[in-house]
Amino acid sequence: MADKKIKIHVENLKKNFGKLEVLKDISIDIFEGEVVVLIGPSGSGKSTFLRCLNQLEVATDGKIIVDGKDITDKHTDINKVRENIGMVFQHFNLFPHKTVLENIMLAPVELKIMTKPEAKEKGMQLLRRVGLDSKADAYPAQLSGGQKQRIAIARSLAMNPDIMLFDEPTSALDPEMVGEVLAVMKELVADGMTMVVVTHEIGFAKEVADRVVFMDGGYIVEQGPPQEIFVNPKEPRTIDFLNKVL
Ligand code: ADP
Ligand code: MG
Repeated sequence: MADKKIKIHVENLKKNFGKLEVLKDISIDIFEGEVVVLIGPSGSGKSTFLRCLNQLEVATDGKIIVDGKDITDKHTDINKVRENIGMVFQHFNLFPHKTVLENIMLAPVELKIMTKPEAKEKGMQLLRRVGLDSKADAYPAQLSGGQKQRIAIARSLAMNPDIMLFDEPTSALDPEMVGEVLAVMKELVADGMTMVVVTHEIGFAKEVADRVVFMDGGYIVEQGPPQEIFVNPKEPRTIDFLNKVL
């Protein structure tokens, strides 16, 4: 990856909630087009880390540079940065009183990035891409969990992000719906999207991750290609964690 462009540079990131030190010292470079899967025990700071990457949480200390812009700098227009970073959560957070298509059109129209007709065309294109164009006029309550999550992904893509953050996107789904969501994510991987994915789906990680990062206690404990981390982990904490989840 030496010839690749650094997309996200994180340097000595710290995040406290009051006295609780959640991220203690995180440094990592994520390359353009790289797929990083983040694993670790509950409470290790994975979600907080993702949320710092798009400033849903303000870092206590350290630097986060995205595409050369220091997003921890107060002068950086964080809304502009966020337009380029899509985020998908465990719970889909769709607007219940808007249709599927309206959910997808909302951000680009509100932020005046697209006209309504443009957003509609883009929305339909994305719905076809996630295999749900027949649901354009449905309301979220009429959809299964897997369908809602695919819509949530389409909604993030409406802003044309070039980084996607996923925080346990399949954890709230019934097992039979996990595959359809992972399939949409795999297409994004194939398209070369830069992705940071928190997931317990080890199969997904083995198949598509360029790098697996194991976090514990607010630190990155170990990282490497999936074959290395899953087959031959070196740190006792990684071994212990993998024994529990594999
Ligand atoms: P993970 O995603 O790895 O399970 P989190 O980043 O969600 O971990 O949480 C790490 C720690 O930070 C936990 O102890 C959690 O309770 C705490 N935490 C997360 N968000 C907040 C918050 N907004 N206020 C206070 N504590 C928080
Ligand atoms: Mg979490």
